[in-house]
Amino acid sequence: PSLFADVELAAPVVVFQLTADYNADNADKKINLGVGAYRTDEGEPWVLPVVRSVEAQMAIDPALNHEYLPILGLPSFRELATQLILGKDSRAILENRAGGVQSISGTGALRLAAEFLYRYYNKREKSTPVYVSSPTWGNQTAVFKNAGFTDMRTYRYWDAEDRCLDYKGMLEDMLNAPEYSIFIFHGCAHNPTGVDPTHEQWQGIAKACKERNIFPVLDCAYQGFASGDPDVDAYSARMFVDLGFEVLICQSFAKNFGLYNERVGNLTMVMHDAPTLSRCKSQVELIIRAMYSNPPHHGARVVASTLANPAFKQEWLDNLHTMSSRIKEMRQLLHSKLRAKGTPGNWDHIINQIGMFSFTGLNASQVQYLKKRHIYLLSSGRINMCGLTTSNMEYFVDNVHDAVT
Ligand code: PMP
Repeated sequence: PSLFADVELAAPVVVFQLTADYNADNADKKINLGVGAYRTDEGEPWVLPVVRSVEAQMAIDPALNHEYLPILGLPSFRELATQLILGKDSRAILENRAGGVQSISGTGALRLAAEFLYRYYNKREKSTPVYVSSPTWGNQTAVFKNAGFTDMRTYRYWDAEDRCLDYKGMLEDMLNAPEYSIFIFHGCAHNPTGVDPTHEQWQGIAKACKERNIFPVLDCAYQGFASGDPDVDAYSARMFVDLGFEVLICQSFAKNFGLYNERVGNLTMVMHDAPTLSRCKSQVELIIRAMYSNPPHHGARVVASTLANPAFKQEWLDNLHTMSSRIKEMRQLLHSKLRAKGTPGNWDHIINQIGMFSFTGLNASQVQYLKKRHIYLLSSGRINMCGLTTSNMEYFVDNVHDAVT
């Protein structure tokens, strides 16, 4: 028998399984609202035109080669990514106490943050509680667990009854958390709910962090994708920095550049002072060396070349606007069609939510019903708004109507 005869079969990762089920479905009319990737109104993946242009230039650039990058990644990319999230004139950047580390997309940035915190934050007490929002993107929990954290907890976030942020519950949970706990926040466009704190609420959250000495980790997977403006979507990150927090910010360029499979991310580390940043970065360097040695080049080069060139940057902003506007249009269309049909329930949350996802409020059995009609979504009722188009909206609305009546 095999030495591995006792290995149990793991359950499939739900969101990837959903896509496999969708692909295997032969129905003419079918809709995939599961995976979080942008789709055009024709239901197709979209390579951003600015990415095409930059890649075309790269293809004929004789100066480019396939040498190893430094362990911490492409310097220009790390600098530009840090500036993008903190703002060019950020005090922390000017004081040399903010720096970027290239990562394997947003997940990799989270993993680096987790590995670093497990080793160096509160190091005499390995069981630091780590709080994630309830609900959250499940991989946050898995990543921190795999890095060694054992005390994973949740803080209240979603008010299911009123379909909005449970701000009071969230603050209560923060104030009741053990001092020095780690809290993971979604920088913008909360996944899966699409509900973000207001600016005023963010200030209250920061105040609670101060009061309990909570360490904030910001997961920013949708900068610019939510509102269409990267500066607007960076509010929470810049607020923490302005208020003097040390903070780890996990950036993904999967959605806002459409570079999903290139795995482009950045961990922006903001520390109290420049020497601390240098020491911490040097430790992250060792962590990377032993995990995957150094990151890939292509995606980081695309992002850096875009952000460094004013004309390309403008084109990127236009591309971002195209994506975020289409999502907003689909929210409006879905909302108005449900209302016009008289589908029971208040659907205002559809237009009030932000970003790629909407937490519809559909329950697991309604989701099951939709699956029989070849419409695929997570059992939590989360839908990817980009999976909806002007041509499949009618079919979706008709079936939602039937599911809830
Ligand atoms: N955090 C959140 C909240 C996300 O939704 C995602 C994307 N699904 C990520 C991080 C990271 O994704 P990626 O590793 O593809 O950048």
